[in-house]
Amino acid sequence: MPRVASTEAVLTIDLPAIVANWRDLAARGAPGAVAGVVKADGYGLGAAEVGRALRAAGCRHFFVAQLAEGLALRAAIGPGPMIAVLGGFAPGEDGDAALVPVLNTLGEVAAHAAAGRASGVARRAILHVDTGMARLGLDAAELERLSADNSLLAGVDLLYVMTHLACADERTHPMNAAQAARFAAACAGLPAVRRCFANSSGMFLGPDFASDLSRPGCALYGINPTPDRPNPMRQVVRLDAPVLQTREIAPGTSVGYGASWTAERPTRVATVAVGYADGYLRSLSGRAVADFRGRTVPLIGRVSMDLTTFDVTDLPEIASGDRLTLIGGPGCTPDEIAAQAGTIGYEVLTSLGARYVRDYI
Ligand code: PLP
Repeated sequence: MPRVASTEAVLTIDLPAIVANWRDLAARGAPGAVAGVVKADGYGLGAAEVGRALRAAGCRHFFVAQLAEGLALRAAIGPGPMIAVLGGFAPGEDGDAALVPVLNTLGEVAAHAAAGRASGVARRAILHVDTGMARLGLDAAELERLSADNSLLAGVDLLYVMTHLACADERTHPMNAAQAARFAAACAGLPAVRRCFANSSGMFLGPDFASDLSRPGCALYGINPTPDRPNPMRQVVRLDAPVLQTREIAPGTSVGYGASWTAERPTRVATVAVGYADGYLRSLSGRAVADFRGRTVPLIGRVSMDLTTFDVTDLPEIASGDRLTLIGGPGCTPDEIAAQAGTIGYEVLTSLGARYVRDYI
């Protein structure tokens, strides 16, 4: 445990739980065929720490979004595992031999292939075909051209063909089967190559979504990949915020900006040292609860930049220096916080700020 001042919030990240989530996911497919998606600094929890823990557990494939993330991850985990960059390399930047670009357009395929042919060494890459996201990846016309002329890939050491599911968290959404069919058709027109398909939710959709390499992100970090069913993943993160002050207020007294909450009874208010600048979203104002040793503590008033207020009338034992669990306790898991804030667990995690003491256990 790092040294923590009594006024600092602590973000506890349970690396063994992340590894256990990865192992559980790996048990769903062929061994070694599950990557770790650690983009956006490991969904806010620390790409270097998560990467090292997963690597030590045997993870051989990682995905990041950007070149700089890939380079930082390589420095953190050392040589060996594949690190693929989902956003590809910028034009003129053939990146780094230590990283694998995802080729998202036919132009990128051509440039990468030309570089490989010029150097006499085929360059590793992952080919992304769009099957329904309409975001990145070869579109239908580009795919048709590539299928008609596979020689466009000469100079490319094609590791995987990948696609990305748009609606995998909605089990019965027709887009899932449509994308599986389009992906199978796309792969049929390409040289025999391994496939990289499901994200976290996709791994729970059944055999049509299995592939040589799955790419889970959120499930590693404890976000429920099966939102219509109980969460099969372990929780991995907890945010404990210190109480800076408690005060007694009389009925009729308002609390915080906008005077949006007014006490209806004699109320004890605890002010904690976390606010929206720390990723405790302002849209939680008046909606969330914290946990104190198994007891629920309602948030009152608006979340401000550095401070948030809670009603601790029923918990007279709470004093300054005590810590309330704002994220990761009962009633305030990242998914529950997300529902209260009108967002998704991914955004809760990736919004977590930089001011916490981070305790990796
Ligand atoms: N693959 C791609 C291309 C992604 O953009 C993402 C994340 O958004 C993932 C995999 C991981 O998805 P999830 O976090 O839903 O498992």
